[in-house]
Amino acid sequence: MAYDFDLYVIGAGSGGVRAARFSAGFGAKVAVAESRYLGGTCVNVGCVPKKLLVYGAHFAEDFEQASGFGWTLDEAQFDWPTLIANKDREINRLNGIYRNLLVNSGVTLHEGHAKIVDPHTVEINGERHTAKNILIATGGWPQIPEIPGHEHAISSNQAFFLKELPKRVLVVGGGYIAVEFAGIFHGLGAQTTLLYRGELFLRGFDGAVRKHLQEELTKRGMDLQFNADIERIDKQADGSLKVTLKDGRQLEADCVFYATGRRPMLDNLGLENTAVKLDKKGFVDVDELYQTAEPSILALGDVIGRVQLTPVALAEGMAIARRLFKPEQYRPLDYKMIPTAVFSLPNIGTVGLTEEEARDAGHEVQTFESRFRPMKLTLTECQERTLMKLVVDTKTDKVLGCHMVGPDAGEIVQGLAIALKAGATKRHFDETIGVHPTAAEEFVTMRTPVA
Ligand code: FAD
Ligand code: NDP
Repeated sequence: MAYDFDLYVIGAGSGGVRAARFSAGFGAKVAVAESRYLGGTCVNVGCVPKKLLVYGAHFAEDFEQASGFGWTLDEAQFDWPTLIANKDREINRLNGIYRNLLVNSGVTLHEGHAKIVDPHTVEINGERHTAKNILIATGGWPQIPEIPGHEHAISSNQAFFLKELPKRVLVVGGGYIAVEFAGIFHGLGAQTTLLYRGELFLRGFDGAVRKHLQEELTKRGMDLQFNADIERIDKQADGSLKVTLKDGRQLEADCVFYATGRRPMLDNLGLENTAVKLDKKGFVDVDELYQTAEPSILALGDVIGRVQLTPVALAEGMAIARRLFKPEQYRPLDYKMIPTAVFSLPNIGTVGLTEEEARDAGHEVQTFESRFRPMKLTLTECQERTLMKLVVDTKTDKVLGCHMVGPDAGEIVQGLAIALKAGATKRHFDETIGVHPTAAEEFVTMRTPVA
């Protein structure tokens, strides 16, 4: 049967755009549907605007520290609407770039909500289009628990467009988004409390990293409340929010920001018209080739809920394009050693196994740690300390994991990830000459294992 398209991609986010562009580049006839914003979550309400706000928040400490280097600054003033307007301008520019990338690579762009009506047909804006393959690349959506008063809370989607910086913010959650946004609000001057339901935030990260970040955020004056969760939120006559915790305590805030994970975006997608199955957590179930239970339908990125990171969605998009239209270049994606950063202030950078994971996996482990005050801060009052940690397999000498909390941790860990991917041993690290004077050189000068 002749189809309108070889591939119909639903969602012009990180993974969808990558799959569409490369498939078209390999000679396929491709369409992509987008209902909201070109570039998806990362470009519009994720990585990019988030990082811009993190840069904005960082200036507060830069100004404070400048005096140690002889600078006198007038009292610094911050204007949230300016930051948001400038951020919006940049995102508009990026939306245009994404549009050009798609159009110039020969992809047909359909703007609207796409619904699958049968395994080879997509309906959008009242028109039906057939395709040999359909790719679900619809991403995720913030998930707020339905406690009484949850409608008064915001998620990251709204935070990027607040008209003014709230004076008192309660951030709920202990994952990437909660920690990053708590840093943004706090850095920009809001009185910020982070509430996390467990013992210590950032579950899944190395224990030393979690503890170190807790200490650093506390030093900065952020109010961290662990073993705390919200029972209800009530709006008061003056517009402020009264928050009642499960332990009976009450807190007041002008903004309650929930960052309690993301669900797959499957709203009105028409999966009931297909044999596509969901996994136990509700994400689209795919095999190692991103194939759903419906032979003509594939899925990638946040909607499959494997690793919710932009570079992973991009790599999955690339793998799918190659598998479908350039099979001789297809290589399966290796999900091991994926580096990642949390853009908290200070940043976390990490790659490979945590000490806990390494021990649980049966490795005999030696760890190496360095804690120091960054050189840049020695002329300032700031008492921030950096942590670097290596997890090494004692038997093979392989470095299993690198972890850091400190300025530019993400930048530093990206390079280390190549070494770990190549199977570097502790000896390779030891024999590598440092770049002096940098913080990164500590990673090649740690000699004494932690007792
Ligand atoms: P998305 O980028 O979400 O794209 C899905 C697209 O599909 C959307 O544009 C949506 O509008 C569209 N769509 C959905 N349904 C339909 C439909 N029926 N019809 C038409 N279009 C539809 N990752 C990092 O690596 N680094 C970071 O620093 C980082 N920061 C983040 C910060 C925040 C606040 C958030 C929320 C996420 C962050 N992420 C980060 C995660 C990253 O944004 C996602 O992993 C990535 O965007 C997933 O890409 P995707 O292609 O799967 O989906
Ligand atoms: P995460 O899954 O990272 O964290 C969710 C947090 O919310 C956890 O601390 C979890 O607690 C807590 N939580 C979940 N449900 C509830 C509930 N009902 N009540 C109270 N607390 C709850 O999700 P995020 O929303 O922070 O981010 C989504 C994903 O986006 C991330 O996992 C990451 O993949 C990606 N991302 C990446 C970034 C980066 O690369 N820098 C930045 C931002 C997002 P518990 O641990 O106890 O389960």
